[in-house]
Amino acid sequence: MPRDLIDRPSVAAAAEAGPLVDTFGRAVTYLRVSVTDRCDFRCVYCMAEHMTFLPKQDLLSLEELDRLCSAFVLRGVRKLRLTGGEPLVRRDVMTLFRSLSRHMETGQLEELTLTTNGSQLARHAADLAACGVKRINVSIDTLDVAKFRAITRWGELSKVLEGVKAASAAGLKVKINAVALKDVNEHEIASMMEWAHGEGHDLSLIEVMPLGEVGEERVDQYLPLSDVRARLEERFTLTDIDYRTGGPARYVEVKETGGRLGFITPMTHNFCEGCNRVRVTCTGTLYMCLGQEDAADLRAPLRASKDDALLQRAIDDAIFRKPKGHDFVIDRRTRQPAVSRHMSTTGG
Ligand code: SAM
Repeated sequence: MPRDLIDRPSVAAAAEAGPLVDTFGRAVTYLRVSVTDRCDFRCVYCMAEHMTFLPKQDLLSLEELDRLCSAFVLRGVRKLRLTGGEPLVRRDVMTLFRSLSRHMETGQLEELTLTTNGSQLARHAADLAACGVKRINVSIDTLDVAKFRAITRWGELSKVLEGVKAASAAGLKVKINAVALKDVNEHEIASMMEWAHGEGHDLSLIEVMPLGEVGEERVDQYLPLSDVRARLEERFTLTDIDYRTGGPARYVEVKETGGRLGFITPMTHNFCEGCNRVRVTCTGTLYMCLGQEDAADLRAPLRASKDDALLQRAIDDAIFRKPKGHDFVIDRRTRQPAVSRHMSTTGG
């Protein structure tokens, strides 16, 4: 990727413009970028079985994604997570990791990471480590082969576990993310935790959010993590700890396993007051909140000039509009998703 991407005159202007702080005083230091809306899985809570994907020409090129990410890094973003869709199905995505890793070398970026379903991890793990990636999140909702296939519709658990092993072997710290699903994995959470901790991985549990039509009733999927925690506490000793990874998870230490368990609770405990994140889609749309419709188009200003002045102005305008928070509801009366777009579009 051409080095002149970082040498434009607007670099100085951007740095001068200072960090991104919203009207509630929250500094935006964490950017999640969906590099593709496509995925090789069709998780039942994430996508409908038959999805219409964006035409490839609408996507930002890898060079444009680099320029966009770099514009945020110049404004104080310290943590960059590539996600999707499935980031590792984007062709040549390692080129992007490689070019973004220069910000780690300069110290401007603290962390470059990704969230993946693990299906392609075995062949990319060593390259990711070589790009300075230290920790990754791998989404696994069950360790039961048949259930895994049922949840992901298309996924193969053995491939994912192979990917996790390859990642560990390459020196990457793996965190397992599991969406807590009523009646589906609810009785397996304790054993998943024992497995994850036994393998040296943290485990984070996530409450399902009402994002996009998935062809199933959300209320039938939703399992409050307050219930999960209470049930785990019948068997395990959970102690709240201050450990943070820059995201919304709140952690406990589990005495019996010696491992860490994270709770991501957008439904039962809204964590918006400390929100430090924004998300960009693969078409360059910036969402200032996962649970709100308001968005800003960054593709037009990005493409309008080689200079980043327009882009930086668009970012500033958008951050100014970052809302106080989301207000998710899942109940029998609320049939509509909070927002129409799927998590795979916004980027998880
Ligand atoms: N394909 C990658 C993966 O599987 O991790 C990255 C994208 S995926 C959208 C990111 C995360 O979002 C996954 O952990 C997935 O389980 C989670 N997710 C998707 N839809 C969700 C929803 N409606 N509520 C809560 N989590 C969701």
